[in-house]
Amino acid sequence: MKIAVLQKGFNYSQDGPGNRLVLHLQGCNLHCPWCSNPESMAAATAFEETEELLAFALRSRPMMFDGGGVTFTGGEPTVQFDALKEMLTALKQNGVSTCIETNGTNARLPELFDLIDFLIMDFKHWNSDKLKSFTGVGSETVLANLRAAADRREQLLVRIPLINGFNASADDAKGFVSCLRPFWHDGMKLEVLRYHEYGKDKWEKLGKPYQMQNAFVTDEQFDSFCSVLSSGSIELTRT
Ligand code: SF4
Repeated sequence: MKIAVLQKGFNYSQDGPGNRLVLHLQGCNLHCPWCSNPESMAAATAFEETEELLAFALRSRPMMFDGGGVTFTGGEPTVQFDALKEMLTALKQNGVSTCIETNGTNARLPELFDLIDFLIMDFKHWNSDKLKSFTGVGSETVLANLRAAADRREQLLVRIPLINGFNASADDAKGFVSCLRPFWHDGMKLEVLRYHEYGKDKWEKLGKPYQMQNAFVTDEQFDSFCSVLSSGSIELTRT
């Protein structure tokens, strides 16, 4: 089977535990205007064989120390669903720790749960219309996948990118709590990531206007958002 990888590299403890081979798969079904990897959004044009990629990953095992393994990220790794599933299956069969970072919008995501040791899911907005107006896709499937992941998995890291003008108001924070609290359990963690402009230069190099304005959150906004989430008995990791 063919798979398109934009970038391969090792990263320590930022994309799952330990030192991990991080594979950025090409293509994304969303178009978030704050994306820090806009070059990964376009559909794939260059592919390699999954057998070759698996062989590369297995050769790299000595580098997967401190509980490391392989993490698939993007773009959105589930855009290449069948190739991703094949890779995860083969890695698990070879005893390699697996992780994916996903925007959570693929309805087939639960098919991968048994093949993933660490699941990192975005939860950008609970309000479907708001999410759709910014990214092109609503939140119904994300919520269904979050519930399914919470029910079936002992560990789950949920990430909220906190962006002024999108999801950082007091009402937004209350909405996140209302959505998450019913299925929250001790194995789940929530990471709130403050908006940054790391992707701005890349957008401009691609000849696309960078549309985000006044998107930084203040310290006060961040603290107040986090305190509402924490008051909902949700364990927070602040970034
Ligand atoms: S889901 Fe992630 S990779 Fe896709 S456009 Fe949004 S920020 Fe970029």
